Amino acid sequence: MEHIDTVDVVVVGAGVVGLAVARALALQGREVLVLEAADAIGTGTSSRNSEVIHAGLYYAPGSLKAQLCVQGKQQLYAYCAERGIGHQRCGKLVVATDADQLAQLHGIRAQALTNGVDDLQLLDRDAARALEPQLECVGALLSPSTGIVDSHGLMLALQGDLENAGGLVVLNTPVAHMECAQGAIILEAVDGTRLLAQWVVNAAGLGAQALARRCQGLDARHVPPSFYAKGNYFTLAGRAPFRHLIYPAPQAAGLGVHLTLDLGGQAKFGPDVQWVDSPDDLLVDPARGNAFYAEVRKYWPGLADGALQPGYAGIRPKIQAPGEAAKDFCIQGPAEHGVPGLVNLFGIESPGLTSCLALGDRVASLVAK
Ligand SMILES: Cc1cc2nc3c(=O)[nH]c(=O)nc-3n(C[C@H](O)[C@H](O)[C@H](O)COP(=O)(O)OP(=O)(O)OC[C@H]3O[C@@H](n4cnc5c(N)ncnc54)[C@H](O)[C@@H]3O)c2cc1C
Repeated sequence: MEHIDTVDVVVVGAGVVGLAVARALALQGREVLVLEAADAIGTGTSSRNSEVIHAGLYYAPGSLKAQLCVQGKQQLYAYCAERGIGHQRCGKLVVATDADQLAQLHGIRAQALTNGVDDLQLLDRDAARALEPQLECVGALLSPSTGIVDSHGLMLALQGDLENAGGLVVLNTPVAHMECAQGAIILEAVDGTRLLAQWVVNAAGLGAQALARRCQGLDARHVPPSFYAKGNYFTLAGRAPFRHLIYPAPQAAGLGVHLTLDLGGQAKFGPDVQWVDSPDDLLVDPARGNAFYAEVRKYWPGLADGALQPGYAGIRPKIQAPGEAAKDFCIQGPAEHGVPGLVNLFGIESPGLTSCLALGDRVASLVAK
């Protein structure tokens, strides 16, 4: 008879969410193995985002996004301080460039209050320009608890905690197939290696639906469709004259072309929204820069011609089609799909980075002994 190694919990995917889930479980004393397809941790969406610690303004009250963002933000600031992970509570301004958008800012403030974010300040044009003299707007909303984080430093710290608690990350190991058998799950890697796990957490990001569809025993009707909303970034040559992150009033599938700063003070603009067919379509088309100039100049007329360079792109793992209303994070355990030992994470788009520690705790609580 074939011998199969057994493990308590396998987490598939070593992005920020998979690592946070694995860490939370390992700290509870569980035996945890993380299987990652790539040759390093965090090479997926977790290294292709804005690195913003979101305050929790925009998400539907009561949604997982709202709850886990607000809770995760507090946990993340505390974790960064405790572990010396690079971060900065720089604050952000959401700017209105016309009267309609001013009304939108009032709406955002009311929604944020319902989500437990009570530190927003509405600023008139002069007050906003006192903070950021180069900014053009008719008003702005200041979010003091928004910040930025070194996402790689964060992932290394999560991996360190996991390993100190006895867990392990195995790289270069794409999971090809899963089979639910008698209350446990057999995983098969692309090289044919097989493993028997009591629990599997599918944190494969853009690959989560594909993996779930290759899980024998899981009814396909529980797997949502995948849509890919690429976000392109353009970097600014030279230093930006801003100290806060600057966001336009939000738009349909994203938060609008905003200005974010990294911890070195380098500015980038993005992400825009470009629906694509493949999760691997990551090249930035320089021609998209033209639209960026127009968008950015609405709030920063001083942006010079030729100042933007194509940067990088990330892809939002959407579970709703273009034009459909935004969907919440989808955390599916046995209560939802009926398969013992399996947790699927679908649609973990923004604010997934901010929420990672709260998501880790939430998933760990589903993985009962
Ligand atoms: C453009 C953009 C901007 C964003 N900005 C922000 C922001 O500012 N703030 C914020 O809070 N959030 C932001 N997000 C969201 C955030 O980046 C994600 O929610 C988060 O990184 C998701 O992490 P993850 O671990 O779920 O996925 P990933 O980082 O994609 O990790 C999944 C991992 O699974 C691996 N994998 C896939 N299939 C398999 C398999 N079969 N076997 C083994 N391994 C597999 C992949 O190689 C990958 O490493 C942004 C997202 C995008 C796209």
